[in-house]
Amino acid sequence: MADSLKGKCAVITGSTSGIGLGMARALAAQGVHVMINGFGDAAAIEDVRAGIEKEFGVKARYNGADISKPDQVEALIKATNSELGSIDILINNAGIQFTSAVDAFPLDKWDAIISTNLSSAFYGIKYALPFMRAKKWGRIISTASVHGLVASPQKAAYVAAKHGIIGLTKVVGLETAGSGITCNAICPGWVLTPLVQKQIDAIAAENKISVEAAKEKLVAEKQPSKQFVTPEELGAYLVFLCSDAATQITGSAMTMDGGWTAQ
Ligand code: NAD
Repeated sequence: MADSLKGKCAVITGSTSGIGLGMARALAAQGVHVMINGFGDAAAIEDVRAGIEKEFGVKARYNGADISKPDQVEALIKATNSELGSIDILINNAGIQFTSAVDAFPLDKWDAIISTNLSSAFYGIKYALPFMRAKKWGRIISTASVHGLVASPQKAAYVAAKHGIIGLTKVVGLETAGSGITCNAICPGWVLTPLVQKQIDAIAAENKISVEAAKEKLVAEKQPSKQFVTPEELGAYLVFLCSDAATQITGSAMTMDGGWTAQ
């Protein structure tokens, strides 16, 4: 598996934090050159970038594109190709969350979630695919969610966007079938990242319980394993989907959710 990915080039959106960072590190560990993307403190991002180069001996670059903007995604894809030398792997991972009942859901939050969590993947695929078609090899993987398969209340925009990602994945899987390019979605259950920490803090405040108790409450409610999925486990899943062994997996929505969607 390792030899087949060595020297390939990947762009991972939203990789300054959480799952995306775990995925970037997992690819770099296989010898893949990586383009890091996302927001955050400039010095902390530089530490992450330089740390990946040092630890894994690959090229790591950073591009701060706002992936909700098509022109910035186009520039990100072009920068990946020119700075790393190719674009073989596209990971559509960046995402945001906002919770509210649907009739109170703010219009601007709806638009922000749809553009960041769904339209961004369309932009990435649209601009990266020509590079992959030219090389007759490519891997497109989007971080969807269990919320691409099932719903929870208070998450209208997020659930709509994640279901949309899975629809887009199926279409691209069909349009690229047999071309050497595959397109899949990974559907994690709860992963303990800054995105989820905000929801844990809200539960702790609402229920007047400790953050530790809120964490247990959140994971136990939906995830039968009662254990968080980790960015490292998701990174290993991603590496498998990028490998030659996964050539016939395309258009799929693959869960890693401690049993959440088995219920
Ligand atoms: P996170 O908040 O730790 O990371 C999100 C990343 O996206 C950060 O790097 C952030 O800077 C970046 N980002 C946000 N908006 C951006 C924009 N407009 N342009 C560029 N970058 C932007 O969150 P996470 O939990 O690691 O989430 C990553 C993905 O995993 C998201 O798509 C999320 O929906 C999905 N997901 C998370 C969980 C979970 O439990 N944490 C479960 C299922 C799916």
